[in-house]
Amino acid sequence: MNLTDNCGRPLLNLRISITQRCNNRCAYCHKEGEVQRANRSAELMSVGEIVRMAKIAVSLGIARIKLTGGEPLMRRDLPEIVSGISAIAGLRDLSLTTNGLLLGGGMAKKLRECGLKRVNISLPSLNPETYHKLTGGKLEAALEGVKAAIEAGFCPVKLNMVVLKDVNSSDVPDLIEYAGRNNIVLQLIELDPVNVGDEYYTEHHRSLDEQEAMLKAKAVTVEKRPYMHNRLIYHLPNATVEVVKPIENTDFCMHCTRMRITSDGKLKPCLMRNDNLTDILVPIREGASDEELKKLFVKANFLREPYNKQ
Ligand code: SAM
Repeated sequence: MNLTDNCGRPLLNLRISITQRCNNRCAYCHKEGEVQRANRSAELMSVGEIVRMAKIAVSLGIARIKLTGGEPLMRRDLPEIVSGISAIAGLRDLSLTTNGLLLGGGMAKKLRECGLKRVNISLPSLNPETYHKLTGGKLEAALEGVKAAIEAGFCPVKLNMVVLKDVNSSDVPDLIEYAGRNNIVLQLIELDPVNVGDEYYTEHHRSLDEQEAMLKAKAVTVEKRPYMHNRLIYHLPNATVEVVKPIENTDFCMHCTRMRITSDGKLKPCLMRNDNLTDILVPIREGASDEELKKLFVKANFLREPYNKQ
């Protein structure tokens, strides 16, 4: 059974933000659309609470879960969270989006052993200076993370590159070459305005039309992901590149199958909005039954609607 919203969009994917803390300071970060709290460590959801929410979600037909943040690896109990969620019967995919800085030193391998299936690693540039300027972090450590993810056997490993005008857009060919050489997938992501200042957005947003035209010309085949925003995947002779274009894109929104859970335990139907959240953590802490929690998911599902409408 799947939940479907008022526009006929099935609910298939859940993105759980497990912390607001991060060890990078990405200039472009949308912070998963969350309102930032003064004390980012406060009110963390416990492992048990996160796993319970995931169980309820899976019982309602949500078969794919992604852990995000902040930086999920800032939580020492991430392996326990992964073990708990991966053991849920009916779950088909469990993935992590990370800056990769803490994936080395055996962590990637440990997470794979705990049942994590895939990782997406943010890599906005292969130039150490640009990487540092954009993230505050060290490129070397991120590349160690990519290496660790590959060696741990995650498949596919994906690189997430938010493309920014006048900052890293000229790095796209290098990233394509790197991804191809390492047999990993590159995602080119259009900058979202959420939690990014107006000035920054105006200065650095650029549609990905130019990159897409180049990919189209080189592609051997093009694949569509109908249950993931109708995104296109370009299979080039030596690399695979997925393009994420959310801005003013009605087709993207009409094929959105996601719900989010914020790091303070609220069901969030859309990255772009905070006026339609449904608290699930407080009811859990007040002793709500599984049936009551399912009803909260159903309510939040009916609050889903395409942000960009036809
Ligand atoms: N710290 C983790 C990381 O770096 O992947 C997880 C959090 S980050 C918010 C999750 C994803 O959002 C990353 O892949 C990042 O590239 C993407 N992202 C961040 N800010 C964005 C923005 N303004 N527009 C589009 N994507 C963005």
